[in-house]
Amino acid sequence: MKKDFYEILGITKSADAAAIKKAYRKKAIEFHPDKNPGDAAAEENFKLAAEAYEVLSDPQKKAKYDQYGHQAFDGSGGFGGGGHHGMNMDDIFSQFGDIFGSAFGGGGGFGGGGGGSRRVKGSNLRIKVKLTLEEIANGVEKKVKVKRKVQAPGVSYRTCSTCNGQGQVMRVTNTILGRMQSASTCPTCGGSGQILDKKPSEADSQGMILEDETVTIKIPAGVVDGMQLKVSNKGNDAPGNSVPGDLIVAIEEIEHEFLKREGENLHYDLYISFAEAVLGISKDIEAINGKVRIKLEEGIQSGKILRLKGKGIPSINGYGTGDLLVHVNVWTPKTLNKEQKQFFEKNITDENFIPNPEKSDKSFFEKVKDMFS
Ligand SMILES: [Zn+2]
Repeated sequence: MKKDFYEILGITKSADAAAIKKAYRKKAIEFHPDKNPGDAAAEENFKLAAEAYEVLSDPQKKAKYDQYGHQAFDGSGGFGGGGHHGMNMDDIFSQFGDIFGSAFGGGGGFGGGGGGSRRVKGSNLRIKVKLTLEEIANGVEKKVKVKRKVQAPGVSYRTCSTCNGQGQVMRVTNTILGRMQSASTCPTCGGSGQILDKKPSEADSQGMILEDETVTIKIPAGVVDGMQLKVSNKGNDAPGNSVPGDLIVAIEEIEHEFLKREGENLHYDLYISFAEAVLGISKDIEAINGKVRIKLEEGIQSGKILRLKGKGIPSINGYGTGDLLVHVNVWTPKTLNKEQKQFFEKNITDENFIPNPEKSDKSFFEKVKDMFS
């Protein structure tokens, strides 16, 4: 089980953006690899804190996390290399380096300072994938076409002379407290430590071209509309010594013709005639993976809810499957012929026709309460 992001940062859910940032900074400095050389547990804590901060510092991601927990980002179907959602040290320094950079005389120093180890991450690409309820219930593999920025064939880069390949330049300012050193992104190379050397004519000023690629996305069963899955390294590449960004896949659920989804449960409105309700009947229900036959006993009441266990949507965590709830609606005829009218007029005061709900016939509110238990 994954540890709660709030717990990792040692804060409560009510912490505001400033408190979240402060808590992360504290943890990042405590577990910083420069302070804990060769300590694997510290490195793990350092990564966990960064992962927690990446989510909680982004209002959208935070809202998703608050609603769905870790499942909102994990996507059990093999995204980002599974398990962790895939932050490595380079990601952390490139994204959050500024937060603790000044505490260590200018971030990015991790990795021994060799200019060659600096890697810039490309930007993320975002797509929407529309899924039917059947695809959501069963999980699906989707092939999508994306246009990715990649380095053009034949392009070459050389070390930036402004920053000497460090990607950052130091600025010294005089303050009343003395000379302060601060690091900022190199204006010449934009932080990559490398600048364009040679490029083919079709490439842009950074040596990049757009390339079509078909990406296969494994979507696990049980995803929810609005959920985002991440496919690592399928975003845009960046110039120089870089790693590609990620492909962010937003899930969109196509409304089903008959079935209404509510979390893991499905609802189906079944209409039967007055005669069918009186005499009892078998009916075919359009369930998610084909028809299911249900038997309605004679004298069934309108408003009855039949629960078909396990005919709903699987939980994205793999904890079981929801149910299909069939709502029985008895259709009262709006017009009658003379003969039918006479029949009902004759029977209107008959004791068989007078409503007489048993104690065991639950009220509407009790049924609704039951459905959610
Ligand atoms: Zn530079």
